[in-house]
Amino acid sequence: MFSFLHRQVVWITGASSGIGEAMAMAAAQQGACLVLSARRADELERVAALCRQNGATSCITLPLDVAQTDNIPQAVAQVQALHAGRIDILVNNAGISQRALALDTDLEVDKRLMAVNYIGTVALSKAVLPLMLAQGSGILVTISSLVGKFGTPYRSGYAASKHALHGFFDALRAELYGKNIQVTLLCPGFVRTNVTLNALTEHGEVYNQMDESTEKGMLPADFARLAWRAVARRREEAYIGGRETWAVYLKRWLPTLFSRFVRRAKVK
Ligand code: NDP
Repeated sequence: MFSFLHRQVVWITGASSGIGEAMAMAAAQQGACLVLSARRADELERVAALCRQNGATSCITLPLDVAQTDNIPQAVAQVQALHAGRIDILVNNAGISQRALALDTDLEVDKRLMAVNYIGTVALSKAVLPLMLAQGSGILVTISSLVGKFGTPYRSGYAASKHALHGFFDALRAELYGKNIQVTLLCPGFVRTNVTLNALTEHGEVYNQMDESTEKGMLPADFARLAWRAVARRREEAYIGGRETWAVYLKRWLPTLFSRFVRRAKVK
């Protein structure tokens, strides 16, 4: 099913752990030409070594902080130079979460969540898109969240940043109609990664605790398989997780009942 990845140039952000690492491994097994980005160069090298051992046609690391948007054009030029100008698939996965009530959260933390999750993703997509248009094809995959479809307590800035992605990419998809560019938004439920440990507290410190829901969440490798399947099926939007995915439909069809549930949700 994932043979479409063979020899495709796949650039994944946030590839140094969790979902990004698992999506890189799954693509490596199909012989993709991988470019892995995140801030921690040593962790990227660890993932790259695994990808090379597991069948990647090629795998390079390109350390990049997506919130440092001034560095993005140079990073795109580097990737272009490596693969005869091609970038077939961009997976916008880099992101940070939040564990703090809205009123307690410093505005700087709200800005940081937006800078990484929204602005960084938009900046990189805009930088890569002209190249995809010139080559006549491309796939933009963005890892949003179920919290991109509804808000839960302790995630106000995070939910806002993920909702913003839907506005941007839905508009972009409409603008790109007929240009052979696929725009896919993937919304994970709970996936067992370090997302909670790395989440920001009210004053921007790292939360450094695991929560129960994430600990019991889907394995990253299982998520990666379902994520690539959704991409292969050219889905515009997919909800990937356990029972929590039903919350999307509950909000859509029974919003008052949803509100009653969400205010009691165990999310911290
Ligand atoms: P992790 O914390 O394990 O991974 C986050 C990744 O993002 C790391 O590779 C991290 O690498 C990278 N990253 C963070 N900040 C930046 C930055 N400024 N520039 C570049 N890379 C950055 O968590 P997940 O794997 O779970 O998270 C991946 C995505 O999935 C995120 O967008 C998250 O919001 C989303 N998601 C996850 C859910 C879950 O339950 N796990 C649920 C819903 C959505 P480094 O520190 O090296 O930069």
